[in-house]
Amino acid sequence: MTDRQPSLFESEPPEAPWEEDELRDRLVVEVAFAEPPFGPYDYLLPEPLRPHLREGMRVRVPLGPQNHLRIGYCVRVSPAADRAGTTRRLKELRSLVDKAPIVSPGQLDLAKWIAEEYVCSVGEALEGMLPAGVRGLAGTRERTYLRTATDWNVGEGVAKITATQREILEALDRAGRALTPPELVEASGKSLATIRALRKKGLIVGVTERDAPQRRAAKEVARTQPLELNDDQAKALVRILDAAEEGRAETFVLFGATGSGKTEVYMAAIDRIVEQGRQAIVLVPEISLTPQTLERFRGRFDRIAILHSHLTDAERHAEWKQIADGAADVVIGARSAIFAPLDRLGLIVIDEEHDGSFKQDQTPRYHARAVAIRRAKQSGAAVVLGSATPSLETWQACEAGKATRLDMPRRVLDRPLPEVRLLDMRTDDRGRTRRGAISRLLERAMRESLEAGGQTILLLNRRGFATQIQCPACGHVVQCPHCDLSLTHHRDREAAVCHWCEFEMPAPQRCPECRAEGIRYAGVGTERLEAEVRARFPNFACLRMDSDTMKKPGSHEEALSRFRRGEIRVLLGTQMIAKGLDFPNVTLVGVINADTALHFPDFRASERTFQLVTQVAGRTGRGEAEGAVLVQTYSPEHPALQAARRHDYRRFAELELKLRREHGYPPFERLLRIVARATDPTPARVWLDAIAERLRARLAEQEAARPRRSKDETLRPHVRVLGPAEAPLARLRGYSRFHLLIFARDLPPVRKLLAEELIALPAPAETQYVLDVDAYEML
Ligand code: ADP
Ligand code: ZN
Repeated sequence: MTDRQPSLFESEPPEAPWEEDELRDRLVVEVAFAEPPFGPYDYLLPEPLRPHLREGMRVRVPLGPQNHLRIGYCVRVSPAADRAGTTRRLKELRSLVDKAPIVSPGQLDLAKWIAEEYVCSVGEALEGMLPAGVRGLAGTRERTYLRTATDWNVGEGVAKITATQREILEALDRAGRALTPPELVEASGKSLATIRALRKKGLIVGVTERDAPQRRAAKEVARTQPLELNDDQAKALVRILDAAEEGRAETFVLFGATGSGKTEVYMAAIDRIVEQGRQAIVLVPEISLTPQTLERFRGRFDRIAILHSHLTDAERHAEWKQIADGAADVVIGARSAIFAPLDRLGLIVIDEEHDGSFKQDQTPRYHARAVAIRRAKQSGAAVVLGSATPSLETWQACEAGKATRLDMPRRVLDRPLPEVRLLDMRTDDRGRTRRGAISRLLERAMRESLEAGGQTILLLNRRGFATQIQCPACGHVVQCPHCDLSLTHHRDREAAVCHWCEFEMPAPQRCPECRAEGIRYAGVGTERLEAEVRARFPNFACLRMDSDTMKKPGSHEEALSRFRRGEIRVLLGTQMIAKGLDFPNVTLVGVINADTALHFPDFRASERTFQLVTQVAGRTGRGEAEGAVLVQTYSPEHPALQAARRHDYRRFAELELKLRREHGYPPFERLLRIVARATDPTPARVWLDAIAERLRARLAEQEAARPRRSKDETLRPHVRVLGPAEAPLARLRGYSRFHLLIFARDLPPVRKLLAEELIALPAPAETQYVLDVDAYEML
């Protein structure tokens, strides 16, 4: 039996416009929508709903000339008298979706901030903050519970009931608790229809309640004790706790080498925060949300909620509810866990804060770090951003005094950082007679370390077998028909695959252009590397870890535990293996090609390369045995690689920041990127051209009006609009793509201008666009 909302929650639309004086005491509700038109629009609140409605609930309202009912978020309630303009033509809100607010006032505030900061609607921001399972109340259902009216057996009503009805009422009283209708049928042996008749008479009262969603049963984890902190750790801890205890929303950058014990500091800080009755959020890159990481935290904290991508909607809803009910002290999760509904937040930790996965790649395109800092301000929480290779945005924030740096330059127990050697592939293997990706030096080092009982990690950031399929006769490179990208050969299924759109065709035997035979499969991907390792090291078990082999849920965890147990001696894969793994027996790390990301058309190419090499290097030398790192490259003189070789983040940051400053790139200027796409290039291009032109015109006006304080200030305009131009990936999934880059010293005024222009000149129907504030993705 399904129960409908009580009739109290429904009302008819007004017959006629209201009289102003009737309206003065009414409430006006602002409703925001997650899909266009986004609103927010004003509605009148029907009087019967007044005691039930609160901000942060979802409501049903009529929208458009047809008055179709749409669900929206109630983002504000205010007296009609306060509202500018007439209320006479407002439609009435129809009904409530939620019985309690689905977002708290703090979250609503955060959504408004996100909408402004990332130029999206409040509805989109809210939708992005709430997991789908929470919005859909996954894993729960409404049930009706029946009890007898308190006075059913007194007064004149008693005489009017039949013997059957009496038996039902008595059965219900005997049960000693509220029963669902089927339970009452069972207990009384009577029909549902008779029970319904008693409800009509008011002798049985029904209450609908929603069951709580069920949490996934967590397996028991052995308790672990805190380690005794070393000096650096203890010093860092004191600074963090001082701020947290004073409710100061200070941002700390825990700049600690790989293996310096950052996680131990996070846990010690959380311990104290929880003792004080406050709560903590820990964000880790999605890929690091492994059982190993989780067990470390679960071994230390009891009331912990975990939000990760393998949860079903119902499980995620259950975790969320647990958190909202105040039953979790610690929430650990990937990017979106930053929105966990905690209301006594004392600390937010972002581990590996430089990781690209903290930037959301769909609307709302927020960066979890920025949201964390905002949330911390709301609740007086401290923020700890941990990394051995902080993003340059974060590093510059320290330089500018907006964040406090806490240094932990040494590894725990004075373990040395591994020696890193760059292997110049232009010379090291000159005169080699065989083909392959592993140079002689790397092969020798692998053999030595494997034979001494160690384990090896090999990084190659390209999946597939051959990365290019080219005809030696005519030079044709086989491309994806939908994208501007050459196809990769996957030998396991003899296919040529596009890594952007998943397009797949049988691997060609002859050139599709000139029909010549002997087409060449060049370039090495992880699949080919695996074959090479197996051929050269047949006695050592090897495992490939990339998104092709790790498709099954749980396979990542399984692979890592086999490696931990020593069943696997060589672990090779894409950047999946570079992060956060802590295996004491890894004595050698090999980077097959450090240059894969170095020559990308992206100003962060150096930074990414430095981070990747440093992070993967950090996977070795974590135990008793010393570790070594061999990095194969064709650009050994590149400053990013030179700095990585010396473990010299500071030097890297210094050089790179100098360049960024000269070019006016982030972190010195904010970057806003607009990408427009259409199947036919013309409309996208024409529209983006027009937007750029209007923007330039308005900026020129502002620039002319801007007082100049010093000569230096005139060197570069405060805002630069570059393009539009073809995006580096000019064709993707059958769309032609163009982008416009806007660099600004001060973003908010430009954002405002742009938002106005986008309303004034909407994109034509066939053109889609995204607007990305603080863009990370440049392709
Ligand atoms: P990071 O997060 O900086 O890479 P971890 O916190 O994972 O470093 O610590 C690396 C290793 O050192 C872990 O195995 C951890 O248990 C150990 N460790 C951390 N702090 C200490 C300490 N004070 N004394 C001894 N071992 C420690
Ligand atoms: Zn493609």
